[in-house]
Amino acid sequence: MDARFDAAVIGAGAAGMMAAAVAAQRGLRVVLVDHAQRLAEKIRISGGGRCNFTNLGTSPAQFLSRNPDFCRSALRAYGPADFLDLLRAHRVSWHEKHRGQLFCDDSSESVIEVLRRECAAGGVQWRMPCTVRGVGRETGGFRLDTEAGPIRAARLVLATGGMAIPQLGATDFSLRIARQFGLRIVEPRPALVPLTFDADHWKPYAALAGVSLEVRLTHEAAAPEGGGKRSRRPARAEFLEDLLFTHRGLSGPGILQISSHWRPGDPIRIDLAPGGDMAEALVAAKSGGRQTVAAALAQAWPRRLAEAWLAAAGPADGAARDEDLANLGGQRLADVADRRLRALGERIHRWTLWPTGTAGYKKAEVMSGGVDTGELDQRSLEARRCPGLHVIGEAVDVTGWLGGYNFQWAWSSGVACGRALAVD
Ligand SMILES: Cc1cc2nc3c(=O)[nH]c(=O)nc-3n(C[C@H](O)[C@H](O)[C@H](O)COP(=O)(O)OP(=O)(O)OC[C@H]3O[C@@H](n4cnc5c(N)ncnc54)[C@H](O)[C@@H]3O)c2cc1C
Repeated sequence: MDARFDAAVIGAGAAGMMAAAVAAQRGLRVVLVDHAQRLAEKIRISGGGRCNFTNLGTSPAQFLSRNPDFCRSALRAYGPADFLDLLRAHRVSWHEKHRGQLFCDDSSESVIEVLRRECAAGGVQWRMPCTVRGVGRETGGFRLDTEAGPIRAARLVLATGGMAIPQLGATDFSLRIARQFGLRIVEPRPALVPLTFDADHWKPYAALAGVSLEVRLTHEAAAPEGGGKRSRRPARAEFLEDLLFTHRGLSGPGILQISSHWRPGDPIRIDLAPGGDMAEALVAAKSGGRQTVAAALAQAWPRRLAEAWLAAAGPADGAARDEDLANLGGQRLADVADRRLRALGERIHRWTLWPTGTAGYKKAEVMSGGVDTGELDQRSLEARRCPGLHVIGEAVDVTGWLGGYNFQWAWSSGVACGRALAVD
């Protein structure tokens, strides 16, 4: 027997549950369909199990998109303060960790429970786990062919998120269905993801795996994206965050941030001693006795980094003036010419690297790209060329920085869509 609904939401994650709850509490008959065994896995594992569910500093400036203004309306209509009101109503407590990032005091399960209760309050019906085999248009709405039988709905919401962490059941479902209905897609790619290097190039640094320090990372786009005027990728991005060396390359919050801007062929620049002038500090330290260059650097860095980086920096980077940097580590500071110390300082502040790739969707926190915002109304998230079809959350070409912004986009786009479903 066919089941008929006002709205079917595919994807019971952050955005889908929010949209379903908001629409159902406004009186709509809503069904939420998800193929997973467990509810909202990405909320569960997020923020180290404590879910960094928003950021107090949220504004459109922390989102990447072909149209950076697209998220403005949804964020204004439902921002961090609104989500905090919801948590308060459910007696969930939180704390601020770092630069406006808010985490649950208890566990991310409490956020899942809030959304589950909000869905229950509206009488949302569930089909889970349930595979959707296909979606079609028919008079009066959409027909879903599911393993639990056909579902008919006047409106359809695509909320299956991005492709990051396929091992948790992430798929490109929303993008496939959007394409089926003629919507343009901005090429998806892994984002908030570690960067990798050619194994030979990285060999001298591989021993540094596990070393972490605060750095300033800069990315300048080597070429405009997508050719010409439609490109909205910021020409320059800069982050002061921690960097982590790994066996295959670089990770840590700073690299994850930069990775969303990086494209193959682009260099990244790392200031390994932000906030100081290493060249002048090294020259000034010459008078300070018998210490080696490595020992001097070890005052600012972990010793392991000072030794291995100095050993690798000359030959491995392939940049100019290698002869100035070769074999410096063991030399006494006082014996090294000022010119060579200044060259070293310059390299420390402007270490330029050309990553060869990313660690891919298996290690990414999000997918960037997705359904082109030009296809959607920014207030309702409804497709202009396919009335009744909405796309929300990570499946849309709106990608937040690290720090709670992606969940805020999920909540904001979910609420905008849920309200619009109930108005129409
Ligand atoms: C390890 C990790 C940590 C993260 N930590 C944070 C954080 O602390 N703060 C933050 O802001 N963001 C974080 N993120 C990003 C955040 O989880 C996502 O941006 C957010 O969950 C996107 O919400 P969504 O509703 O669009 O998609 P999701 O929450 O991913 O939900 C999509 C749902 O669709 C279902 N689905 C997928 N394919 C199908 C299909 N074919 N058929 C039926 N159902 C399907 C899935 O099972 C899932 O339930 C993290 C991501 C990862 C991977």
